[in-house]
Amino acid sequence: MPAAPNFSPGPDEKRNARVVLNRLKKRYPTMQTALEYRDAWQLLVATVLSAQTTDENVNRVAPQVFSRWPTPEDLAGANPEEVEEVVFSTGFYRQKTKSIISLAADLVEKYDGIVPATLEELVTLRGVGRKTASVVLAEVWDIPAIAVDTHVKRVTNRLGLTKESDPQKIEFELRALHPEKEWSGISMRYIQFGRDVCDARRPLCWQCPLADRCAYPDKTRRP
Ligand code: SF4
Repeated sequence: MPAAPNFSPGPDEKRNARVVLNRLKKRYPTMQTALEYRDAWQLLVATVLSAQTTDENVNRVAPQVFSRWPTPEDLAGANPEEVEEVVFSTGFYRQKTKSIISLAADLVEKYDGIVPATLEELVTLRGVGRKTASVVLAEVWDIPAIAVDTHVKRVTNRLGLTKESDPQKIEFELRALHPEKEWSGISMRYIQFGRDVCDARRPLCWQCPLADRCAYPDKTRRP
């Protein structure tokens, strides 16, 4: 997999990134998605359903989807109105229904219903971007991949690990900063840290274990 095309960090930057990641590892020794799944197919669908809702909500709804339409073939041929009823409580149910049905159809057509295990192939599936593809690769197969979502983007920018706003550029920079063996453990830790401590509107800077490494100019103080 390529690293950042025009980014080659020096030893100090790499050391800083390593210290940050080590502290996150100390806080979160093991990290896995909170989405429940049995295989790559289920994680793909659960990830699509997880947009704009909680993982708990998806974990309530997704088993109903897989019980009624167990395989990609089943979901590809499902009646959209019936799927909408099942996924209704996850929000944006019409769009999500369209997305998971067309994803299923695409998977059947291109890969005989078997989820491919490379980023290049995964992103050819309708509705699957680099972020979702990277989550599946890292979670299901422990294949080195870094998913950049809104939390990863915010936290890495505040920490000064990147100045980029484009997720793909951030992904490439993180790849260049960290050895490949670390890639699959990066995203989930940043995401959880972004939820627990480095909140978008109200980061808990006064109790942050990374405050001494953080370049964010608007750090908050204990209320
Ligand atoms: S010091 Fe504040 S802004 Fe910086 S990483 Fe910690 S919580 Fe986020």
